[in-house]
Amino acid sequence: MIVVLKPHVTEAELATVIKMVEERDYRAHVIRGVERTVVACVGEERGDHQLGHLESLTFVERVMPVLRSFKLAAREVRPEGSRVKVNGVEIGGKRLTVIAGPCAVESKEQVEGAAEAVKKAGAHLLRGGAFKPRTSPYAFQGMEDEGLRLLEAAGRKVGLPVVTEIMDPHDIDLVVEHADMLQVGARNAQNFSLLRRLGRIKKPVLLKRGMSTKIEEFLMAAEYILSEGNPNVILCERGIRTFETATRNTLDLNAVPLLKEWTHLPVIVDPSHGTGIWSLVTPMALAAVAAGADGLLIEVHPNPAAARSDGPQQLKPERFSELMKSLAPLAAAVGRSL
Ligand code: PEP
Ligand code: MN
Repeated sequence: MIVVLKPHVTEAELATVIKMVEERDYRAHVIRGVERTVVACVGEERGDHQLGHLESLTFVERVMPVLRSFKLAAREVRPEGSRVKVNGVEIGGKRLTVIAGPCAVESKEQVEGAAEAVKKAGAHLLRGGAFKPRTSPYAFQGMEDEGLRLLEAAGRKVGLPVVTEIMDPHDIDLVVEHADMLQVGARNAQNFSLLRRLGRIKKPVLLKRGMSTKIEEFLMAAEYILSEGNPNVILCERGIRTFETATRNTLDLNAVPLLKEWTHLPVIVDPSHGTGIWSLVTPMALAAVAAGADGLLIEVHPNPAAARSDGPQQLKPERFSELMKSLAPLAAAVGRSL
């Protein structure tokens, strides 16, 4: 259920609504929009309209059910769309956000080289994996703690906030200490205990779609984080598994406009993992922006041929810089800026 309050509601009136909502065993999540405040009420579904009596309050505009299975993620809760700030960088506004950097942090020189290159080309955030979710236990697993420190230092040096993957709930405190945003990878998209724990931190979470996760399931995964009290969730379409094996994944661009209809959360697209092939990254990045994405996640490595993971899909710095140049006129054409 959502309770839409009239404009200019007072704090005391809001407190009255929360109290009445909680009396009926719902949890109240206050969402302050630009124009008005709504109270999203979540609890066990009982099928009956338990909050209709709130409509008798003079400062309540209306009480309406959220018919979809996800509630706090539903567009109705915040029709104007959410904007999430990552250490001062806003995602979800008019400006597109480009997150770029290597698949994995491999050395000080490598991550610093990538950081300088992506900053120079105009990226807004630096990425790099320290804990790597590899299909094989024998493949490079990431530099872990040391990787986190190198990534943080490289980001600070060039003035970019950093994002890195969190795999294990036990590492949350450590990763929160070094990163500005925590990424949940495709392989953990439905790791509900991890998602719940990330709902209790304050830093933003970049939630990737699982390789076989339906859009509704993707939003239910986001709901796990939101329902624990962390409203700062960004969704990332990164390709799904289909019968096609010519590309690493099938980048599902249908998901972008559909997610924009169903949810207020910002949506970004990762054409690097979505295609697995560097030459397809720029065309699909442009297509993602044309489809309405709020930003991009692009893997960039100073020397992709020597990369310890995902070499075939990482862009060389020059190619990333060309991508950024080709993005500018397209962004303008769809009413966005870079
Ligand atoms: C990554 O971003 O490097 C990564 C492992 O991505 P995904 O979880 O989408 O496979
Ligand atoms: Mn990767």
